[in-house]
Amino acid sequence: MEETHEHLEARAAQLISAGSLFHGRGWMPATSGSLSARLDDHHMVITASGHHKGDLDQNDLMLVDLDGHVLSTGKQPAAETFLHIILYRRSADIGAVIHTHSVPAMVLSRVVVEAGLTLAGDDVLKALPGCTTHHDSVTLPIFPNDGNIPQLAAQVDDHMNRHPDTPGYLIEGHGLYTWGRDVTEARHHVEAFEFLLDCELQRRRFDP
Ligand SMILES: [Zn+2]
Repeated sequence: MEETHEHLEARAAQLISAGSLFHGRGWMPATSGSLSARLDDHHMVITASGHHKGDLDQNDLMLVDLDGHVLSTGKQPAAETFLHIILYRRSADIGAVIHTHSVPAMVLSRVVVEAGLTLAGDDVLKALPGCTTHHDSVTLPIFPNDGNIPQLAAQVDDHMNRHPDTPGYLIEGHGLYTWGRDVTEARHHVEAFEFLLDCELQRRRFDP
């Protein structure tokens, strides 16, 4: 990237590393998924559209402001960019957002008929905000897979106005969004959710 911006290259390097890790685990097949990190009050760095997440380099990331303007010349934003932006606009405590497309997230978000999927009874819950023991639980809301991204973003925003402690959400038949104060914390949340979703999927095979 040509832009000079404090933290830009360091944040980009963290996102490249996370993309490689999560692609390797099958959570970002091919060009799916997206990763971003906040740079300051008005800017973020995010994966550009159409790049393989297992093989990202600095040129596959772009600088975008929180009004949605692309500041990296010649880069194409993914449609999902706005779903990242609305989270950064909500809270200065959100410093990174990661979107994965795993098999458990895909399958569970289609078969769960309720408006949310509650994950409970596992020690890994302690990696998530608001959970201190395996007796706690966390509910991921599930939103319809709406190709109209501003409409979908408005639903997410509305839900989070009512439930500000929501740590992530699922899009039906699509995948997971979660976030953290920085890339490291967002990575932990992805790993915890993906583990819990995998356990939940396997549990339902035995006890549908
Ligand atoms: Zn997606």
